[in-house]
Amino acid sequence: MGECIWELSDGLPCGAPTEATNRWCPFHRARHIGGDGDSQRRLKNYAAATNRSFLDLSFVRFERVLTTDLDLGYGRPVKFVAATFNHCQFIGLQFKHGSTFDKATFENTFFKNCVFEGKAVSFNECVFNGDRPVFTHVSFLPKVELSFAGAIFHGATGTFDEVYCRTKKVDLGQCSISADRLLIMICDEVKHFIPHQLSINADQISFVDLRFESHFEYINNSKALGQAPIVLFSRINFSRLKSAVFINANLERARFTYSVLSKVDFINVRWPQKKNRLIVYDELSNVDDTESGDLLYTYSQLKKNYEENRAYEQAGDWHYREMEIRRRNLSAASGNKLWRWLRRNFLSLYPWYKLFSGYGESYGRSLSWIVVIWAAFAIVYNCINQALTWPPSVSLIQEGFALSAAVMTLQYKGLYSAGQLQCPQLIVLQILLTATVLPLFLLALRRRFKR
Ligand SMILES: [Zn+2]
Repeated sequence: MGECIWELSDGLPCGAPTEATNRWCPFHRARHIGGDGDSQRRLKNYAAATNRSFLDLSFVRFERVLTTDLDLGYGRPVKFVAATFNHCQFIGLQFKHGSTFDKATFENTFFKNCVFEGKAVSFNECVFNGDRPVFTHVSFLPKVELSFAGAIFHGATGTFDEVYCRTKKVDLGQCSISADRLLIMICDEVKHFIPHQLSINADQISFVDLRFESHFEYINNSKALGQAPIVLFSRINFSRLKSAVFINANLERARFTYSVLSKVDFINVRWPQKKNRLIVYDELSNVDDTESGDLLYTYSQLKKNYEENRAYEQAGDWHYREMEIRRRNLSAASGNKLWRWLRRNFLSLYPWYKLFSGYGESYGRSLSWIVVIWAAFAIVYNCINQALTWPPSVSLIQEGFALSAAVMTLQYKGLYSAGQLQCPQLIVLQILLTATVLPLFLLALRRRFKR
């Protein structure tokens, strides 16, 4: 009797007892599991013989296995690293203690009515070949994570059919899916099995760099939208998809860094808000200046998208955010903090554009400024004329306002003599200010009515 020298996925030998002069245990001598009863018996014996804390079936070939109602791990986590599954049907299987299928290959293999539990379930970098959904009526309920990172799903039909997942983190990052649709539903407590759909109840979901070209739909099942998970839609070219729709989706914690969004349909979605204007979670969750280039891209994409869909109100919000980033980007590279502050708040056009018209989005703000200029200069003219006594005379105040209005409308020369205009510099200043704010007011007004 010796110990099996078959190298398991952690690099250590199997160690299960061998017969006579054999180098491998009966299980690893065959290295594959077929659909016959003998395979099942060998697997059971192996599970009993190995003293590992997990059942390691890595690098094993599964050929036409049809199992029903079985705990394949025999009470332990099970590893199928780089295993091959050929024409297998796993029906009613339970993986109660976690399972790892990383780098496994599945040929025409499917899971039906199965339950995946334990700490984590991973199918990282797996390859799925076949023409029917890999998972049908399957529950993924790991405590921590379900991961398909880098997995490749070949085949034209939906990959997930009636699949429900409840966990903390779901990772579909860098997945490549060639199915004709990918329907994601965010749900709360209720267990949802919906045809063709992957229902997810998780704190964080990643679609980063998802490679998919067909119909994508992301929807919240409850009308109340509920609590939003952190969802990463970064680096996805949505305009390459046949369709990309977000319906009733809560995007309050969704990131879209470097994604092309111009053709996405946002239908009744909820964006986060800051000071009554839409904002993206990327900006809310990140105060670091270094990523402002990404934000600029995201905002210009969203602006384009909403303008094309004639949602000008929201497009205006995205425009406002874009200009804010541009203003904050001024001299971002400069190490001098004072200079940066001055540029952002005084020494460029952006701060004044913002102050006088909210980047062209607020004609009310421009109008207020016109009134402020009018009133402020009226008071100044009164003071200069030393006409103010206490209590102030109503007629003199009226005169001040009349002069101020005459200057703003350039009518003062015909109405007042040179002697009455005591401070020509002030008049020039008022005319300049008016000439700045009035066009901004008209532009903002035009923007509003063009919509
Ligand atoms: Zn062995």
